[in-house]
Amino acid sequence: MDKLLIDYPFLDQAREYVQGLDVEIEEIIDKKSFSSARSRAKNRVVQAIQQGQVKPIESKLNKPKFLKEIFSYPVARIIVSCIDKNYLINKYVHGETELFYDRLIKESEKKVKKIIDDLEIDYKLIKTNKRMYSIHFTDYLSLTRSLKGKEWKLTNQRLKDGYISLEEKKFYRILKEGIKNKIKKDLPLDVSDAYCSKLNKYIEEINEVLEEQRSRYRHEYKKEGIIEENLFPPCIKELISDIKQGKNLSHPARFTLVSFLSNIGMEKNRIKQVFELAPDYEPEKTEYQIDHISGGLSGTEYTPPSCSTMKTYGICRNEDWRCKKVQHPLSYYDWALKSTEKEKSEEKDEEEN
Ligand code: SF4
Repeated sequence: MDKLLIDYPFLDQAREYVQGLDVEIEEIIDKKSFSSARSRAKNRVVQAIQQGQVKPIESKLNKPKFLKEIFSYPVARIIVSCIDKNYLINKYVHGETELFYDRLIKESEKKVKKIIDDLEIDYKLIKTNKRMYSIHFTDYLSLTRSLKGKEWKLTNQRLKDGYISLEEKKFYRILKEGIKNKIKKDLPLDVSDAYCSKLNKYIEEINEVLEEQRSRYRHEYKKEGIIEENLFPPCIKELISDIKQGKNLSHPARFTLVSFLSNIGMEKNRIKQVFELAPDYEPEKTEYQIDHISGGLSGTEYTPPSCSTMKTYGICRNEDWRCKKVQHPLSYYDWALKSTEKEKSEEKDEEEN
């Protein structure tokens, strides 16, 4: 039992090891004897969502525990592929990467070399009084593509004979990108519906965790009163534009708009103002509808319909690239807000560097 394989299950060597065992993936997904591997797989995903990092297993490894751990990685990848949400895939990849990176920085030179070789990075270790590395500039460019900050720009590197010299800390940061890319590669996998339905129990649990995260996040920005109209999904922008152009909204369109605005935390009076331009505007009726949909009367706050229902109503309009990855207008907005916040904080970091 080679510990390297369970510590770094993304390695080709680990995949080959699993393929060489006399166990089919159908058995791991279905058989009772592999339920602990499936639970660990689900936990990998849940920990990535909730804690931002997959947690290592603590116990000593006997053969069954070794197998449970090594099988859990491919099963986790199948689970996230069944759910197939961009946000989840990114969260999962990040959580796995953090776990492996934490391990990597404590490893011996020999083990690190095995991992770098698997990542097919062209590098050299330069022995000086401090550990320095050099990496071929083509690998450097592809691995630093998503790293922000002036310190990563090629023009700020020492380039000699096609290689860039880096101190250990920066070199490891680049390795982290290599690991992330390797984990992300091929996700979402092309998995059969039969696999997904066998894993349904775990998928439902993860969907609940995702929804919980989303509503907590929504609650946060509601509390802070953050409303970014330019990040509204196209369908909502279209409905607002219809009203501005003096068009009356159908009942489902009205319901969608009120429930969307109420769910993102817009105050009742502001929602009312949105409807003021509608030709059929009646203040009392509008107020009643807002109260009803936002839970002021019934105690139940309604959410807008899902994207598929919006399509059947004919009010899913002007879809953009984000729409391809979401199933709900609120998810669209959550994602757009989060990405913008991330971009802002990266820009801030860049300015500070
Ligand atoms: S796909 Fe969804 S979010 Fe996008 S426009 Fe249609 S309903 Fe709105």
